[in-house]
Amino acid sequence: MSVSEYFSKDYGQARKRFIDASKQAGAAMSSYQCPSAGPDGEVLTTDVAWHGEPDAERVLVTISATHGAEGFCGSGVQIGWLDSGLYQERPDGIALLQIHAINPHGFAWLRRVTEDNIDLNRNFVDHSGPYPENSAYDELAEVICPTSWDDATIADTHKTLRAYADSHGEKALQSAISGGQYSHADGLFFGGNSVAWSQNILMEVLSGKLSGAKQVAVIDYHTGLGPRGHGERICCHSPESNDLKRAMDWYDEDVTSPLLGTSSSVELHGVNVFGMEKCLPGADLTVVALEYGTQSSPEVNLALRADNWLHLHGDPMSKKGREIKQQIRDAFYQDADDWKSAIWARAVETQKMAFRGLSEG
Ligand SMILES: [Zn+2]
Repeated sequence: MSVSEYFSKDYGQARKRFIDASKQAGAAMSSYQCPSAGPDGEVLTTDVAWHGEPDAERVLVTISATHGAEGFCGSGVQIGWLDSGLYQERPDGIALLQIHAINPHGFAWLRRVTEDNIDLNRNFVDHSGPYPENSAYDELAEVICPTSWDDATIADTHKTLRAYADSHGEKALQSAISGGQYSHADGLFFGGNSVAWSQNILMEVLSGKLSGAKQVAVIDYHTGLGPRGHGERICCHSPESNDLKRAMDWYDEDVTSPLLGTSSSVELHGVNVFGMEKCLPGADLTVVALEYGTQSSPEVNLALRADNWLHLHGDPMSKKGREIKQQIRDAFYQDADDWKSAIWARAVETQKMAFRGLSEG
């Protein structure tokens, strides 16, 4: 099987292939049904596969589809790891936990968000409040998510957003849009006003399966930021922590930190790392988001804004709706052999380095 064939054409195919390949490889499986259904009324699940001794103290965790439509990439890697036979090279005493489609709704509907428009990777905040503020988003909310979506609106809002970047800087615009916001439930990068179903499942899986773990490596697969095909290892642990130092060690310093300003990502509110740190207090955690570039940031943002408009004001089944869905698919998944080969090579390198780190740690 060629590398390109590890990647599925949609959520339904990915789910079936992951379950079949995991069973074939002898993994212990569990499945969690999402409260929402897919576009054709189909059942949506997060599927979890455990390879190794149930009480392993050292574990590599891989996660796909934290941001729904980004799941093509992470799912392809998880399925490839099984289909290529690489799962058999797992070092002694180390388990592999693959969490497939943690946000199945977003994957199935080609959305970055969950069934309640929550950006899962901004949802790990204290929901008793107060929430982090994002006054720049508040200022730009109606420009980012206008009520109409046509060439004139796109041109007008583009002009306003460019003017904001010209006077405040590109990073300020990026922070305003993607840093996370908690005041516009219908908007982009909304972190939620309650715990999302996907967060509950992730915490249940990690606390249930890793209660005895001492060393845990997590690779959370993402797309849509950075140069096309490049895989940036983004580490959101505190810069003062041993966790960031360990990540630097394991990955030969090839790790970036939003908090140190070395990443293509700005500092983010409510990322899943914060939830993992709370839920696994007894383990040394080494978490990276492996973030692969697809299109330019303006193209990706345009697709997200179009999709937000579509689900609030349009019809996903219309011609315009289908065009916007294609735009989202392309923004988060490059259906091209060269891109898939680059994704795969970097993923294999990263997962092997994680196993080496766990073996030595
Ligand atoms: Zn992402």
